[in-house]
Amino acid sequence: MEPRDLSDHSPYVPGRGVEEVARELGIDRSSLIKLSSNENPHGPSPAAVETIREHASNVNVYPKSSHADLTERIAELWDVSPTQVWVSPGADGSIDYFSRAALEPGDRVLVPDPGFAYYEMSARYHHAAVETYELSPADGFEQTAETVLDAYDGERVVYLTSPHNPSGSVVPLDTVEAIADGTDEETLVVVDEAYGEFSPVDSAIGLLDGRDDVAVLRTFSKAYGLAGLRIGYGVVPEAWGGAYARINTPFAANELACRAALAAIDDEEHVDETVETAAWARDHIETALDAPTFDSAGNFVLARVGDGAAVAAAAQERGVIIRDCTSFGLPNCVRISTGTREETREAVTRLNEVLATLDRGVEA
Ligand SMILES: *Cc1c(COP(=O)(O)O)cnc(C)c1O
Repeated sequence: MEPRDLSDHSPYVPGRGVEEVARELGIDRSSLIKLSSNENPHGPSPAAVETIREHASNVNVYPKSSHADLTERIAELWDVSPTQVWVSPGADGSIDYFSRAALEPGDRVLVPDPGFAYYEMSARYHHAAVETYELSPADGFEQTAETVLDAYDGERVVYLTSPHNPSGSVVPLDTVEAIADGTDEETLVVVDEAYGEFSPVDSAIGLLDGRDDVAVLRTFSKAYGLAGLRIGYGVVPEAWGGAYARINTPFAANELACRAALAAIDDEEHVDETVETAAWARDHIETALDAPTFDSAGNFVLARVGDGAAVAAAAQERGVIIRDCTSFGLPNCVRISTGTREETREAVTRLNEVLATLDRGVEA
């Protein structure tokens, strides 16, 4: 027998890994600069690493108190009730939890194009259909209420990404409110704030005080540097709180991940340094790269380079791994994650060499 018909499901295409590329090029991984997956170039919080070591010998036990402690701590951080905090394996896990809690077979979701692939994947796993609203390079991928509401047609879930991946554009809070006001009572507006720490816009979690139609996604993968542990959360309206126990995968957020996240939350120095470096690096890429870039509030910059696949391949030959944006439907763009100051400077130098040698077919 075979799996069900998955022909509508597109596979997730991750950024390329360091080991993979080093092996292919026959070089040492330490000479590679990996700026393809928006990871934290400073590594995880040292406090988180210490906690992981301390708790390694407890992994024979299911994560119960660590999960409860993390839920409480996040609730305190955002001034919401613990039932509103849905801890999950990465923010991706919370996308699945929202799908499970919201979608009936045949429901529709509305997602940005270009956008983060997992919204669509999760909706399809849950037998929902997917509609899109278009964000345009012509206006810097600006996310207005009109853009979303013009495309909206009663979908059950509407996804907003702020800052947006891959462009870095933001959704102001009054725009989130206008979209939530302009959609049906039975539509949930999900604001994905995976890169929220890097952004000047306040979290939409503040809107949940008094609204029952907005939910927010956050993660420890980006600013906190815990991508490999898979830990994130959703924050839901009070009325949704009770659903968690009915839809979550038991113990999916693991012991070490919950403990590390608890330690990372209180390591403000690490997050501050991360955010500061990203702001510097964004600025450096925007000013020093010999290609047009889009204003970004994330830890990455989208650049228009002509043939994105060719530029990414040539960059890789020079030891810089960046994200070709063909899978986002932007074949003339690459996305460059911000590295440390040293990595970013070096990467921009090597990318400019690539750009100078390739016939790019666009004006820089
Ligand atoms: C990275 C990312 C996520 C989720 O990452 P997790 O590692 O699953 O927490 C969610 N949304 C966007 C837009 C992202 O870029």
